[in-house]
Amino acid sequence: MSSLVGPDEDDPRGKPAVPEDVQDAIKTLIRWSGDDPTREGLLDTPARVARAWKEYCVGYEEDPATHLSRVFEEVGGYDEIVLLKDIPFQSHCEHHMAPIIGRAHIAYLPTDFVVGISKLARVLHGFARRLQVQERLTAQVAQCIWDNLHPHGVAVVIEAEHACMTARGVRTPGVGMVTSRMMGVFREDQRSRKEVLSLMGFG
Ligand SMILES: [Zn+2]
Repeated sequence: MSSLVGPDEDDPRGKPAVPEDVQDAIKTLIRWSGDDPTREGLLDTPARVARAWKEYCVGYEEDPATHLSRVFEEVGGYDEIVLLKDIPFQSHCEHHMAPIIGRAHIAYLPTDFVVGISKLARVLHGFARRLQVQERLTAQVAQCIWDNLHPHGVAVVIEAEHACMTARGVRTPGVGMVTSRMMGVFREDQRSRKEVLSLMGFG
């Protein structure tokens, strides 16, 4: 029966233990925010928050480049752009530890081999599940593909909303930030750049 339902959020059994000092830090934050960490509804919150942060930042436990180690050389002479569009992702900004929620478009122009298309998304998530700034996330994804697939070109465009801007500070919902990183032919050749951007749905 229990296999039919998802893991119980409130059941601590089988979950990694959260060190006392980590829980204390979150209790301090709750107190700092104006609430009482000893009231019933907040009792399990420190451990839950701590585990959630391990998940948000699980990217620190992997090297995203490993996703690009298995390549396919049988490409049947394919020598056009490979594009993975509209990949949803979540990250957290390193300035406020607030969510960054967005979509990425990742393209490359292969030389002699390609990777499984889902691997591009895995590279993105590997870097996104850390504390980030959007500019660096964009650059890291592009650089990783460039270094490991040795393509003729890489183009990465990321559109995202930052909760630190939409939920606090200037509180401007709906404002997106767009960053891009072009390498190889997409940087050097105007026509290639135009082509990849139009495939991504820009211009
Ligand atoms: Zn921020």
